[in-house]
Amino acid sequence: QSTWSGVPQGPPDAILGITEAFKKDPSGEKINLGVGAYRDDKGKPTAEQQVVQQNMDKEYAGITGVPDFGSAAALLAYGPDSAPLKEGRIAMTQSISGTGALRIGGAFLHRFFPGAKAIYIPTPSWANHKAVFSDSGLEVKQYRYYNKDTIGLDFDGMVEDIKKMPKGSMILLHACAHNPTGVDPTEQQWRSISDAVKEGGHYPFFDMAYQGFASGDTDKDAFALRHFIKEGHQPCLAQSFAKNMGLYGERVGAFSVVTASPEEKARVDSQVKILVRPLYSNPPVHGARIASTILKDPALNKQWLGEVKGMADRIIEMRALLKENLEKLGSKHSWNHITDQIGMFAYTGLNAEQMTKLAEEHSVYATKDGRISVAGITSQNVGRLAEAIYKVKG
Ligand code: PLP
Repeated sequence: QSTWSGVPQGPPDAILGITEAFKKDPSGEKINLGVGAYRDDKGKPTAEQQVVQQNMDKEYAGITGVPDFGSAAALLAYGPDSAPLKEGRIAMTQSISGTGALRIGGAFLHRFFPGAKAIYIPTPSWANHKAVFSDSGLEVKQYRYYNKDTIGLDFDGMVEDIKKMPKGSMILLHACAHNPTGVDPTEQQWRSISDAVKEGGHYPFFDMAYQGFASGDTDKDAFALRHFIKEGHQPCLAQSFAKNMGLYGERVGAFSVVTASPEEKARVDSQVKILVRPLYSNPPVHGARIASTILKDPALNKQWLGEVKGMADRIIEMRALLKENLEKLGSKHSWNHITDQIGMFAYTGLNAEQMTKLAEEHSVYATKDGRISVAGITSQNVGRLAEAIYKVKG
């Protein structure tokens, strides 16, 4: 009898399964819209060359990572006018990309959050949120977010659910470019959401995996986070540099907590270190050096902001082209949601059966929830994609 004979077979990862099916498909015209990865990242090699040329040592970073990176990441998220940043009351640690930031956050909240150890996430949310938070020991609950009839935000349902949560609940908010729906609240709606969260005395946790990717402007995409802080909230934040810097495999991210004072920040910092040390001791340095070079070198920073804008604009353009092509084909459905939504992903409104048909009959691969990665659309394949969607949905 083997020691592990009782280990059951786990289900495969939904998204990696799509990539496998895509790879097996012999069609020359196949399209993969499953994974959210943007490949056009010209800024990276330049910054990377700079880091390599500096011939830096490979010594350990401290537990909270490369200090230059932490300060630059905080500045990018919170902005130069941020009161807590200027007052030195943001506890910041480098993390293993966005996932690692969420996981440190989950562990910190599990250990120190004074209220109920439950966190509310939107329905739907990034598929990994539930696993990350429940593996951190938190109970995971949900609030309404997406309205499948309008293929848009269920704003009333969301606010109603926030008001119904027990006082002092933890709530996870996607800062911008909501994954998987691509549906974001407007600035006006964010103001009301902030009020409702405040009224309930709830604790906001922002997940910002796509800063810059939604509007093309990193400040604009940080609106929700910065507005909440102006309103007196003290959120915590998970940042990822995977998408906006094309540093996917380098795993560059940050977890931060806004506190009430430098003294409180020091206490929080000390406890984050105590959490990180037995998890992985300290984070890798190379990617963080690339990111901080991009953020701190004025010329590289300018170039990068231009490229982020270019990526966002290309995505916005592909959305418009997809909608236009569907309309030209005579589709009887409204496709306004494709251009109303924002960020890397679009929720098409296609059901699981239609998505299966899309893959089996048209070699177009994406998740069964109807989400497509707009980053995978090009001016070359958009026509064929529209035809496939039209044939499946009408
Ligand atoms: N949060 C959201 C909403 C995401 O969509 C992702 C990636 O897809 C992440 C966090 C974390 O990604 P990473 O760990 O690659 O930074």
